[in-house]
Amino acid sequence: MSAQHVDVVVAGAGVAGLQAANTLAEHGLSVTVVEASDRVGGRIHTAYTASGEPVELGAEFVHGRQPRTLAWLERASLSLVQADDRIVWLAGGQPQPLDAVLEGYGIIEGISAYEGADVPASDYLDALATQYSPAAIQFARRYIEGFNAARQEKISTLWVAKTEAELDANGGEHNYRVMQGYERLPRFMAEEARRLGVTFRLGQSVSTILLTGDGIEVHTAAGDILTASACVVALPLATIQKHQSRLLPHAHMLTDALASLEPGFTYKVSLEFQVPHWPADVGYIFSSPPDIQTWWTRPGSSVITAWFPPEPAEQTPFTIPQLREKTLASLASVLGIARHTLESTLVAMHQKVWHGADEFGLAYSYVRVHQLAAPARLAALNLPGIYFAGEHCAPGYAQGTVHGALASGEAAAERVIHRLGGTH
Ligand SMILES: Cc1cc2nc3c(=O)[nH]c(=O)nc-3n(C[C@H](O)[C@H](O)[C@H](O)COP(=O)(O)OP(=O)(O)OC[C@H]3O[C@@H](n4cnc5c(N)ncnc54)[C@H](O)[C@@H]3O)c2cc1C
Repeated sequence: MSAQHVDVVVAGAGVAGLQAANTLAEHGLSVTVVEASDRVGGRIHTAYTASGEPVELGAEFVHGRQPRTLAWLERASLSLVQADDRIVWLAGGQPQPLDAVLEGYGIIEGISAYEGADVPASDYLDALATQYSPAAIQFARRYIEGFNAARQEKISTLWVAKTEAELDANGGEHNYRVMQGYERLPRFMAEEARRLGVTFRLGQSVSTILLTGDGIEVHTAAGDILTASACVVALPLATIQKHQSRLLPHAHMLTDALASLEPGFTYKVSLEFQVPHWPADVGYIFSSPPDIQTWWTRPGSSVITAWFPPEPAEQTPFTIPQLREKTLASLASVLGIARHTLESTLVAMHQKVWHGADEFGLAYSYVRVHQLAAPARLAALNLPGIYFAGEHCAPGYAQGTVHGALASGEAAAERVIHRLGGTH
């Protein structure tokens, strides 16, 4: 057991924690970051093909021109490339009309102006049955569930409206990828933090955060104790929800705010082939059930990514062989290509299961119906010395995004600086 005192312990080295660490250190505070995994970046996690093409296992797109993200990318000399937004709807390899997609996007545009009573998105969409085709409403359901990794019966329509409006205001109709791989960003942020004197304890899980009379004690699973004047808790929502009584035993008032936010789950599986088997001039391939409905690729790439939610009744996540089976069979059906042709040219499958089976498995959070104020309530919780950061308590309506996580880290650091003072 060892003890160490710093001004601030940051729990979690995702982008929220990394932003907080940088801001705090820039103001002259001593900071230690404790991270359970042996890498920084959390839900930004890039794999690479043998030829060096990035394959994003977690966050992939910068939604529009997000100033905080852009500023970091520029500092890190990383470049963005606009994602190809051309769509094809395929069944058995045959292109289908896009009427339902266009009409469905119209429904989503309509939601961003919605200011009525809050209802679950499922109710909002059901009420449109006389105005739109069933296929368009189905597309809108899939969009809301897919984009937000959410269940339509739980997600707040007002929150969807606000998030869509906020994205629109920042050019969110276009998505961008980090050309060199998104994970280069958190790695750069960690290097910058180290340069400012921040210490990292990787591979060390925070087990308990205690309020003592004159500060905070942060206990690690290995038995180390760090004492600090403040702690920024930048852990995933699912981790805090699951381990609240052990992690934050003093934080009884957390329970309500935590229950208003919902961890979202998804599967994201990228299949890497020797050659692309799909049309060269598309960014997105949509298809109908029972096939996986959403796929995307980059121009000229031999990698295609499937994005699909767990079934509502699914108790245990798919195993890796089951994921391989499901994605290959579905892609063969969508493209109208024999399964063995696909399999014989498959180079690799890249995936990470964001299903919630363990504490790292949350995709990203969304707000339940009638709980629009929950993220702000969580961010502003008054526990002396404990400050929350993370995508789930992003300011405004940027929950579930990288730019929201960055903003939450900065906001938490500013509150700490306000309390402790900084030297710069
Ligand atoms: C599949 C997927 C796709 C996504 N796509 C996009 C996208 O296209 N665009 C976008 O903007 N956003 C996207 N997101 C969301 C985005 O990745 C997250 O909102 C953001 O990265 C969250 O950052 P964070 O710092 O809040 O949390 P995290 O990145 O989860 O960081 C929390 C850290 O805490 C660590 N930790 C957990 N438990 C402990 C413990 N007990 N002790 C110490 N450390 C612990 C974790 O290992 C992790 O490193 C996506 C997410 C997923 C999963």
